[in-house]
Amino acid sequence: KQKRFSAELSQPSQTIDGKRIHLYLNAGLLSGVQSNVAEGADGIGLYRTEIPFMLHQRFPSEAEQIKVYKRVLNAVGDKPVVMRTLDVGGDKPLPYFPIKEENPFLGWRGIRLSLDHPELFLVQLRAMLQAGGSGKQLQILLPMVSHLGEIDETLEYLDQAYNELNVELNTSIARPPIGVMLEVPALLYQLEDVAKRVDFVSVGSNDLTQYLLAVDRNNPSVSSLFDSYHPGILRALKRAVEDCQQFNLDVSVCGELAGEPYGALLLVAMGYQKLSMNQASLARINYLIRRVSHCQLQVLLSDCLEKSNALEVRHVLHDFIKQNH
Ligand code: PEP
Ligand code: MG
Repeated sequence: KQKRFSAELSQPSQTIDGKRIHLYLNAGLLSGVQSNVAEGADGIGLYRTEIPFMLHQRFPSEAEQIKVYKRVLNAVGDKPVVMRTLDVGGDKPLPYFPIKEENPFLGWRGIRLSLDHPELFLVQLRAMLQAGGSGKQLQILLPMVSHLGEIDETLEYLDQAYNELNVELNTSIARPPIGVMLEVPALLYQLEDVAKRVDFVSVGSNDLTQYLLAVDRNNPSVSSLFDSYHPGILRALKRAVEDCQQFNLDVSVCGELAGEPYGALLLVAMGYQKLSMNQASLARINYLIRRVSHCQLQVLLSDCLEKSNALEVRHVLHDFIKQNH
């Protein structure tokens, strides 16, 4: 079956009735972005920069970061690469930057930490801009944004980095599109304001689920409660894509849900056209999408939204896949 899936990767991802869906790769390790691995993907939808940081013994220098980011960009030819600024804290500790907190998932993580350490943040932004150079591949994504002010502050640092480089270097540097992760629930209700500030949104369904359900995504004692098929989560995801469409904000999903067969079908049904996932999911998701119609999926989605819990939703999805494949 894996062989059958693999053959799918040379085919464009679209539904039977012609809706084009773009599939991207989630990556963090350089080995995960070798060109043959990215084959079949429309680009890298999430490059987690915390992974190379975690592999170092200290904060990597600007020159070291430029080298890593350039290799990632080069690995996918001229396809787009969404690079996320450092998202440490929470479940992602840096061995050389210990953080002790009672409640790390609600604490000092992602953009909060970067904004409190401009000396580190500016180095990362400068490295990304230099790696991107004058090309059009690079896009920059901000993790764990919960206040619009964090976006404004970041845009100022980005201006600063951009202006410094323009003075220091002879070559011209492009201004990359900027996006924010939609993973803190409050931001769901501010997408109109988000759209005035940035170019795109990427839905982090892992953290969005964790924060909407108040369930730790890594705690085995409550793992049965962590479920992105909870009808409340599905409604939030549907609302997010509808608001993004209304406010002309480009949107994708890069959480695990996008790489799950049930999840991908529901997201496409809601109107998402960009899904980013681990390499292992790419072929399978393409296979599925190429065998369903968008019309059919609308019915499936409304059936799911009528259910009262995740288990019932999963049953509907299970029956749908069984009947259609
Ligand atoms: C997410 O939260 O869904 C996400 C993609 O980010 P991470 O898993 O790296 O927190
Ligand atoms: Mg996240």
